[in-house]
Amino acid sequence: MSMGYIGLGNMGGALARRLLLSQELTVFDLDPAVVEGCVAAGATAANGVRAIAEGCETVMMCLPTSNEVRSVIFDPDGLRAGLRPGSLVVDMTTGDPKATREMAAMLAADGIEMIDAPVSGGPQGADAGTIAIMVGASAAQFERIRPVLTSISPNVFHAGEVGSGHIMKVVNNVMSAANRAIAFEAVTLAVKNGIDPKVCVDIVQKGSGRSCATEVTFPKFVLAEDLAQGFSLGLMHKDVSIATQLAHDSATPMLIGNLVREIFQTAINQNGADADINTLVEFYERAAKTQVRRT
Ligand code: NAD
Repeated sequence: MSMGYIGLGNMGGALARRLLLSQELTVFDLDPAVVEGCVAAGATAANGVRAIAEGCETVMMCLPTSNEVRSVIFDPDGLRAGLRPGSLVVDMTTGDPKATREMAAMLAADGIEMIDAPVSGGPQGADAGTIAIMVGASAAQFERIRPVLTSISPNVFHAGEVGSGHIMKVVNNVMSAANRAIAFEAVTLAVKNGIDPKVCVDIVQKGSGRSCATEVTFPKFVLAEDLAQGFSLGLMHKDVSIATQLAHDSATPMLIGNLVREIFQTAINQNGADADINTLVEFYERAAKTQVRRT
């Protein structure tokens, strides 16, 4: 099955390189530098989205938001113009489930299938082959794509019909964002009151307050030399916003989720949307007038 990959940034690049270990890929990104990284790993570069559509039966993508996905598919020189009936579009973006369902229905009119398969675990999880992949697809579509996805990681889950992967991804990320924010806030409290941050994190990691923030974020990033985890404040704000919009649309009160979204908005206003997600710790440091990071 000929395969293309569009969107080779922090996440898409890591997923594409993982796929390249077991299959051929034709790739495209607006940024030539990231295309080069994948070509060095064995990919063939296409000169645009249309060329990928004309040469591939399955096209995977990992773009910032559903807006870019819509433009890659429906622009005049987009995928829809070149894909043949029976082709499959696999959206690994953390997208908006409502938009995904609309796009899938429009493509279905041309006999083109579209499913969602967002991921959790970051570029590090893709590199390690442990990333979680949550798929929104019919049972038949899931079986069709399963061998490809399991070549990335064994942790592939069928969440439900199209759009369900995107629902599960924002459910996951609103928890992840809240866990990170409260961990930053509480460790700041410990440090302000004389506890060494590493001692604090080591204790919590063996206690009931542990989370991905104490297991991964603090030891590998905040308390290590490099704060940058490869995921931006802006993208996390987008994910929490999709979750709170979904909550609004389904009359599901989301008190903490809405607060967490505003915390991320405040950090974006201070540091910029492109700043790494872990710069959120500076928001708490500034507020408490203390220093959690070692450098
Ligand atoms: P990124 O900004 O690093 O990469 C996005 C890439 O898309 C860029 O290389 C950009 O040039 C490319 N792009 C944008 N518009 C394009 C277009 N029209 N045609 C071709 N290429 C285009 O972002 P990322 O961190 O890789 O995130 C991508 C998606 O994955 C987001 O939805 C994000 O929420 C999700 N995600 C990211 C992580 C992570 O840790 N980085 C983890 C899980 C999910």
